[in-house]
Amino acid sequence: MNFSQNRALEWVSQDLQPFVLGLLVLTAIARFLYVLWPKWKIFQRAPFEDRLNSPVKRLGHTFRTAFLQVKMFKEAGAGWMHALIFWGFLIFLLRAAWFFFIGFFPTVELAGSGCETLYLYLKDCLIVLVILAATYALYRRTVVKPERLTLSMEGIVILVLILAIMVSDALFDAAWQARNPQAVLNGIWLGSLIAPVLSVLGADIVVHLHNLAYWMHVVCILYFLTLLPGSKHFHIITSIPNVFFSNIYGRGNQLYRIDFENEELENYGVSKIEEFSWKKLLDLHTCTECGRCDVVCPALASGKPLSPKQLTVDLRDHLNSETPFLLDDNLERLESPSLLGGIINDETIWSCTTCGACEEECPVMIEYVNKVVDLRRGLVLMEDRYPAEFANAFKSLEAHSNPWGFGSNTRADWAKELDIKTWDKNNPTEYLYFVGCNGSFDERGKKIATAVVKSLKSAGVDFSILGNDEGCTGDPARRAGNEYLFDMLASKNAELFKEKSVMKIVTHCPHCFNSLKNEYAEFGVELNVIHHSELLALQGGSEVKTDDRVVYHDPCYLGRHNKIYDAPREVIADNVDPKAISEPATSRERGTCCGAGGGRFLLEEKTSTRVSHQRVDQLMESNPDTIAVSCPFCVLMLEDALKAKNLHDKVKVKDISELGNEP
Ligand code: SF4
Ligand code: SF4
Repeated sequence: MNFSQNRALEWVSQDLQPFVLGLLVLTAIARFLYVLWPKWKIFQRAPFEDRLNSPVKRLGHTFRTAFLQVKMFKEAGAGWMHALIFWGFLIFLLRAAWFFFIGFFPTVELAGSGCETLYLYLKDCLIVLVILAATYALYRRTVVKPERLTLSMEGIVILVLILAIMVSDALFDAAWQARNPQAVLNGIWLGSLIAPVLSVLGADIVVHLHNLAYWMHVVCILYFLTLLPGSKHFHIITSIPNVFFSNIYGRGNQLYRIDFENEELENYGVSKIEEFSWKKLLDLHTCTECGRCDVVCPALASGKPLSPKQLTVDLRDHLNSETPFLLDDNLERLESPSLLGGIINDETIWSCTTCGACEEECPVMIEYVNKVVDLRRGLVLMEDRYPAEFANAFKSLEAHSNPWGFGSNTRADWAKELDIKTWDKNNPTEYLYFVGCNGSFDERGKKIATAVVKSLKSAGVDFSILGNDEGCTGDPARRAGNEYLFDMLASKNAELFKEKSVMKIVTHCPHCFNSLKNEYAEFGVELNVIHHSELLALQGGSEVKTDDRVVYHDPCYLGRHNKIYDAPREVIADNVDPKAISEPATSRERGTCCGAGGGRFLLEEKTSTRVSHQRVDQLMESNPDTIAVSCPFCVLMLEDALKAKNLHDKVKVKDISELGNEP
C-alpha cells in the first residue's frame, strides 16, 4: 500500500475529514442496523435447529464452497464471472479498510511491510477482471436476459455500484501518480498506465479527480452497505454463513424426527412462515435468484406448478411482509398468514419429487427437500389435506405395512421357490437382505428381487430375509408428509432389528437404503447398510459380455442423496462390452429424476408431461437397447414411459442385477 497517498486530499480539510467521514459511516451503519434488526429478531424467535456441530468440517466445507466457489464452475461463463466478482470483493475488503483508514487518520504515516507491492499488483489485476465481469453481467441482464434470471433494477444498481467502486479505485491511484510523477508506486501498474492520460487534463482537474475518486469510493461502499439488508442482495451477507450452517451430513439425512410424545408441541410440520427453523429462514434470505435450481428441476421442466426459485422467493417475500406482524402482536393483518393453499399452492407442494437436483446446483447451499417435507407435514398432520391416492396408501401402510394393501402375511410369498434362509437370531447370516415393498409385492419388482437373490448367491454372499416379519421402512409415508405413520413403521422395524440383532443389511431399493442407513439411527439402531450394487461391484462380472447398447440412469436416492455413482457403473462394466455403454447427457450429480421419489410413484400424474417420459426421451438420445437402473421404482417408471411411447418392444429396462441374470 502506498501510505503517502492520503496527504493530497483537499476537498475537505484534514481537520474536518475524519468528522465528515465519521458522519457518513455512522449514518450508513445506523441505516444498516435499522433494516437488519427486525430480521435478526425473527431469527432469534424461530424454532431452534442445531447447525453448530462439527465446526472444523463446516469450516472446510465453507472454504471449498464459499471461498473457492467450487460449485460455480459447473457453468463456465457465468460461473467464472460470479467467482471473479466474489474474489475481487474479498481482496477489496482490505482495500476498503485502507480507504477508510486514510480518511480517518489523514496525517498518520504507516510503514509498509513489503507485501503491499504484491497485494497492489493483484488488486489492479482484479480491478480489470471485475470490471470485465461486471460489464458482462450488465450485458447479460440488459441485453441477453437469460430466462432463469430474475431481472430487476436493483440488480443493475448493484452492478453499477461495483463498477463505480472499481473505477474510483483505479482513478484514485492514477490521479495520485499524475500529481506525483516522480514518485514510484510499486505494484500500482494500472494507475501508472492511466496517469499520463490524466496529466494531459491539467493539474487542477487532476486534483479534483483525485478527491472525487476518494469520496466516490467511500460513498459507493457505504451506500452499497445500506442497500444490502433490505434487498435481495442481503445474500452478500448471508451466503457465507448459510454455507457454513448447511447440511454437511448428506442429503439423505436432512429430515428431523417429530417428538409426538411431547404434549407441549403445538405444530407438526409447517403451516406458517414463523414455524420454519432459523436455518430455513436464513435459506430464504440467501437466495441470489440465479435460477440454477429451476434449470434442473424435473417438476418445472415437465410443466408442474413448481419453480424452486419462485418457491423460495415467495416464502422470502411473505417472510418480509409478515415480519412487522410477527414482531408486534397489536398489528392486525388483512390476510391469513397461512402458507398452505395461500402463499404456496397445494399442487406446488405435491409436485416435488424430492430429487435434490436443485440443492445440488445451488451455489449457496439452499435446502429444498426439508422445506417441502415440512410443508407436506403441515398439510397432512395439521390440515388433514392430501391427494386421494395418498389416503389409500396411508391406510394400507398402517394396516398392512405396504402402500398397496397386500396382506402382510403374503410378503414373503415371492421367495417360496427360491430356497432363501429366514433370519435366525441364533444362527445369523452375514447380511439381512431387506427386500422392500416393491420387491415383495409388485410383479415386476419380484423379478428384480429374484435376480438380486441369484446375483447374491452366485457372488457367494451369506444372506437371509426377514420373511413376513419385514415391514415397509416408512419412506413413502415420510416423503408424503405423514411423519406420524413413518414414526410408527420405523419404530416397529427398529424394534425388530434390535430384537433379532440385525446389524448388516443389503438392499436393492435406494429408498429403503436411504431410510435404513440415514434415518433409523434416530430410532435407536445403528445399521451397516449396503446397496446391492456395492456388493456386486466387488464380485466381478460374467465372462461373456453383452454388446447390447446400455445406458445407465442414476436413481436420485442412490446418487445425489447417497453419492453412490461408481458401483452400479462397475457392475455394468462387468457385464457389458465397454464400447456399448453410454452416459446420458445428464448423469451422476446432474442425473434427471424418473419422477418416482417423494412418494410420487403413488400419484396419478395429471398435469402436463410426465417426468418419466421426459427422462426416457433423454435416455433414448443414445439409442440404447437397454436402460440399466439400480432402483426398482425407476424400473417401473421408465418401463411405463416406454410403453406409453410404444418403445417397450425395442428397449428393455433392467436392474443391474438382471444384466447377468435374465428375468
Ligand atoms: S427436489 Fe427436485 S423436484 Fe423438488 S424442487 Fe428440487 S429439483 Fe424440483
Ligand atoms: S435457490 Fe439457489 S440455485 Fe435457486 S435461485 Fe436461489 S441461489 Fe440460485
